[in-house]
Amino acid sequence: MKKVIIIRYAELFLKKKNRGYFERIFFENMEKALGEIPHVLHKNCGRYLIDGFAEEDIDEMIERLKKVFGLHTLSVAYETASDLNSILEAALLVCDDEGTFKVASHRGDKRYPMTSVEISRTLGGMILSKYHHLKVDVHTPDQTVYVDIREGGTALVFGKFIDGANGMPVGTAGKGLLLISGGIDSPVAGHMIAKRGMRVECLHFHSYPYTNEQAKEKVVELASTLSAYTGVKKLFTVSVTHIQEEIHEKCKPELMITLLRRFMFRIAERHALRIDAQCLITGESLSQVASQTIEGMTSSNSVVEKLPILRPLVGFDKNEIIDRAVKIGTYETSILPYEDCCTVFLPDFPAIRPKLRDILAEESKLDVEGLIQEAFSTLEKIEL
Ligand code: ATP
Ligand code: MG
Repeated sequence: MKKVIIIRYAELFLKKKNRGYFERIFFENMEKALGEIPHVLHKNCGRYLIDGFAEEDIDEMIERLKKVFGLHTLSVAYETASDLNSILEAALLVCDDEGTFKVASHRGDKRYPMTSVEISRTLGGMILSKYHHLKVDVHTPDQTVYVDIREGGTALVFGKFIDGANGMPVGTAGKGLLLISGGIDSPVAGHMIAKRGMRVECLHFHSYPYTNEQAKEKVVELASTLSAYTGVKKLFTVSVTHIQEEIHEKCKPELMITLLRRFMFRIAERHALRIDAQCLITGESLSQVASQTIEGMTSSNSVVEKLPILRPLVGFDKNEIIDRAVKIGTYETSILPYEDCCTVFLPDFPAIRPKLRDILAEESKLDVEGLIQEAFSTLEKIEL
């Protein structure tokens, strides 16, 4: 009797016409996630099965698979011969020997000599004869023994459904560029968009040497955590140090953040177009901070010419974002106290409703194109 992992997918079914395409990408993403762990993954009657793995790798495999978007639930099951005695042997391993239980059976092989109801009833009786402290409860049992009779004389027996990440397989909805900071919000924004099937690349702006090596490490760590969901194993970084110095020296301090953000968006759009990304993604949330007013967003939008900007957190409260950050595993890293570039040269009173006329007047004091070119010369690609 060996163990197998059953993988079930959900929303893919909605895409009737393109189902093959979605399934192929889902398959590839699972292969990529499992990586070096020895295993054999194959398609089986509208789901996937994994076998050929070592017992000690199961926990790690589950951890990785739970981050693959498109996966609805998974189960670790025993694969046995389909006669009732063999099934019973597996059922006794799956089931605790006290509390209440029921058996739920399914026949993939309709030629099996018993109906599903008969299998459940008979097997239930056999389990009771072994575990005397168990009781049957078909409505609200403490545990359920699932039996799946398959073609070819085998059965799968399991007791648990483990929730997956749901969503759509990454790579089925184009590519976007996430502006990733060291904060709580942007990794959550990237996760949400990746969940809808988009391949999310990451770009981070730093102000080295005003920000330190630890601040960079923090973003590398966040991008790595995110890569377990997106499969994207790289991070782009660009220095905005000189841009910040120039703004600081020549422009009104209250417009520092607004002006810096316009540079970031310009650079991000150009980089996105170079890597064939089709949108920018940010972690902005309306009214969260001074720069995240609708005026602030309009000011950033107006320098992005070709691409849409996705702001999946726009209507979220901070607490809702924190909950998600905790769930996806980025929160602990995000709250490490290293400075982000936006906090360098931070004015005491940033403009809350910056006027475009003022912004343009301040920007005219700067060599915008020259500074952007110079920033691009600092572009780095970090392999995660
Ligand atoms: P976060 O928690 O994501 O840092 P925040 O609440 O600190 O967000 P801001 O600092 O105003 O808000 O940033 C808003 C968005 O701008 C971020 O979510 C991110 O998408 C982008 N951003 C901010 N700083 C950087 C940076 N240093 N590099 C790349 N993108 C950034
Ligand atoms: Mg921030």
